[in-house]
Amino acid sequence: MQTQNNTSVAESSLLAMLCENELGRFFGIKQEVFNTVWKNLTAEDGNSVAYISMEIGADPDVYNPLKKKLQELSASRPSHPAIQPFVDAIFHGPQKIPNYSGGLGILAGDTLKSFADCHLPVVAISLLYRYGYFSQIVDSRLGQLSQRVDWSPEDTPGLYLLRDPQQPDTPLYIEIPFLNEYDQETIATAKVWMKIEISEGLDFFIPELLLDFFLPETPALIKNAARQLYDSESSMVKAMQRRMLGTGIIPVLQALGITSRTFHLNEQHGVVVAMQLIAEELYKTLKSADLTHATDEQILAAAGTVAQRIVYTIHTPVKAGHDRFDKSLYAGISHKSCQHVLDLLARDDDNPHTYNFTNFAMRVNRSANSVSRLHRDVTHKQFPQFANKITAITNGVHHLTWISDARANVFDRCEQLNGWRQDPGVFRNAAQLMHNQDFRSSLQQAWKEDTRILFDFVNDMLREHRAQMVETWIDPPNYYSSLIDHITKLNPDVFTIGFARRFSTYKRADLIFNDIDVLTNICVTNNWPVNFLFAGKAHPADEPGKTVIKHILGYQEELYRKSKGLVNLIFIPNYDMSLAKMLVAGVHAWLNNPKRPLEASGTSGMKAAMNGVPNISIMDGWWVEGYHYGQTGWKFGHEGPIDDANLSESREEMFYKEDSDSFYRLLPLILRDYYHDKTFSAFLDKGIMNLCKNVPIFNTHRMAAEYLNKYDLVLPDETKIKMRSFAQLYSSDS
Ligand SMILES: *Cc1c(COP(=O)(O)O)cnc(C)c1O
Repeated sequence: MQTQNNTSVAESSLLAMLCENELGRFFGIKQEVFNTVWKNLTAEDGNSVAYISMEIGADPDVYNPLKKKLQELSASRPSHPAIQPFVDAIFHGPQKIPNYSGGLGILAGDTLKSFADCHLPVVAISLLYRYGYFSQIVDSRLGQLSQRVDWSPEDTPGLYLLRDPQQPDTPLYIEIPFLNEYDQETIATAKVWMKIEISEGLDFFIPELLLDFFLPETPALIKNAARQLYDSESSMVKAMQRRMLGTGIIPVLQALGITSRTFHLNEQHGVVVAMQLIAEELYKTLKSADLTHATDEQILAAAGTVAQRIVYTIHTPVKAGHDRFDKSLYAGISHKSCQHVLDLLARDDDNPHTYNFTNFAMRVNRSANSVSRLHRDVTHKQFPQFANKITAITNGVHHLTWISDARANVFDRCEQLNGWRQDPGVFRNAAQLMHNQDFRSSLQQAWKEDTRILFDFVNDMLREHRAQMVETWIDPPNYYSSLIDHITKLNPDVFTIGFARRFSTYKRADLIFNDIDVLTNICVTNNWPVNFLFAGKAHPADEPGKTVIKHILGYQEELYRKSKGLVNLIFIPNYDMSLAKMLVAGVHAWLNNPKRPLEASGTSGMKAAMNGVPNISIMDGWWVEGYHYGQTGWKFGHEGPIDDANLSESREEMFYKEDSDSFYRLLPLILRDYYHDKTFSAFLDKGIMNLCKNVPIFNTHRMAAEYLNKYDLVLPDETKIKMRSFAQLYSSDS
């Protein structure tokens, strides 16, 4: 009887999570929730934000509150036919949406999750890439090889192809005017996928609209650009991708009746939307569809009006992050009147033949922000003419995504941390737990458990690599797997440092191997073993970045031999969010060593901090704010004033010697802490200090609250009060 009741309760709550309207059938939220969200977004007053990003990283295998709910309801096998396919897909369908390359995309995903949790009226727009970013294979001699990702949005749970509200039996197509290679008007069509980013409480969601131009009828020039994120085939493909994102925004919002007054540009990639808004303003002033006669003054006035609608976040001082296009190239894909607008607004005084999209975004916004305090200061120096309007909003990460299950269980059981899921500010109270022996030992147990999970994964990988060595032409990337017999495993009790991120050269993945003799001597003299776990992708066109991967692989044997087997450097291929989550929770310390001040923020270190794992880092990006006199981790390397900062990315000016020497002075102190303190207590101290000092600040709820000050939204009192309490935790711009 009891079971039967439970089954029917579970089934009826599942049925209540099914909703349907003229756009489609969606599972995971109640009809009334859908209606409320949609009503906000389509309200006449435009009281909502359109968040625009080239990439969004939010893999369902890392965070999926709906799946968790189904597990709680033990509902992996519902009997009702209406929900069966949805539930099957959640448990057995693809768990990745590979439309991200790194920190920028994952920040977007984390931000949208916090917007959902905080019930903010936001819609997100990005592109859907049929072959994702790329899948990384690593060969010990050849280094990184890239393969396209064959993923199928059709089978991916939580992703829906929208129907045409006017013709419910056909998909929604949006039509965007383009020029073809003969300078003639063509129409590019895109289908619209919607990921529903559901809040932790399943009581709200953020629609993420992904434009899919990869259709049979799409002109080849555009279709080519719809395959792969940051495709580097040519500058033309790159320019096309920016145009597809930027010019798709207004048509898709119009097709759905979404009225957002404010546009948030997550990086300048989507800034072409400003051009469209300017054109709309000009239609109004000129009372004509022909904009060729608009004067400079009229264009600048229109830009001034449009600027009131745009919030812009700049993410990096590094050159590759700022789009510039040859004027002649852009002339081939845009109308004369657009060129007039760009001539005025995307002007680059240092390079008269290029359009600079960063300048465009800098000129047309009501508010621009950097992603950390130090980055604000650097950005002021880079863009002195805009300095007065650039403030800092330091990045964060979505705490519910990045805190491991084992750690979360400890926090759930701890009275002082009551409510941490809804309010990461609660971790302020962790200070009271410093001397609580129960808490300390459960935290240590959880840490051990996460280390075990990570090492099981790595050891399985090494075993697979050994098999591969015989079976395929790929020579797997780890010296360690060629070396050991099938019983020897990497030891989880050994001090383990993690390093994983994109392999851009400024991140200097090979820094600490600059002098292998010194490094191995530290270990040999003291008989201290160390594991280094490394992962990360280099952009397929980034030859210097790929060379760094080769260097890393090349050092493995030398490290092993010179340290008499004490130092093991392991490279884990195909870095993604789930590997990131395993690494940040499982290692004993997280390493970050970019060239200061080129790391605008960095977020992987925040993910470690969320789990109470200390950072060992250069004083760059967020760590300038998250380092507290040694209480949360260690700092090393060059720390000079940024007034005379050197932004060069050339190898000779990367301070390898200065910063690696600094690391070698620090490392023995860290290892002594680890090996001479059997109680692990120095590490637990730092762990708890991270919880109380860094979790309340470096989370996306707080960050969302700071963005809210820029958005100018009218919100219900309850939301306003909650957001104010997050904002009061920190003031990034002080
Ligand atoms: C967090 C994350 C990043 C960003 O790492 P940084 O150290 O901030 O560069 C990149 N890739 C993945 C998969 C991540 O999870």
